[in-house]
Amino acid sequence: MQRVNEYLEIVEEAGEKAFRCKCGYILGPATDNYKTYALKCESPLKKAGPNVNPYKVGGEKFVFREFCCPGCYTLLGTDIALRGEPLLRDVEL
Ligand SMILES: [Zn+2]
Repeated sequence: MQRVNEYLEIVEEAGEKAFRCKCGYILGPATDNYKTYALKCESPLKKAGPNVNPYKVGGEKFVFREFCCPGCYTLLGTDIALRGEPLLRDVEL
């Protein structure tokens, strides 16, 4: 077992490595991006916090993305990304 963060780990599932939430929900193969299998919410950047980009540099170019476990709704990760940009990948085997 390899821990990815506080809530996510990589486990052996049916002979293959998979992402698993601490609740036991299997998000998908560890060779993929776990965010593909998570619940996704995209919001204006200001949701990330009042001190994130207070001068609104870049206008509406950037978004705040949240990724939650479909099993227990725990927040597994967040990204600040360009609007329309593919999912950022921060875990790779
Ligand atoms: Zn979960």
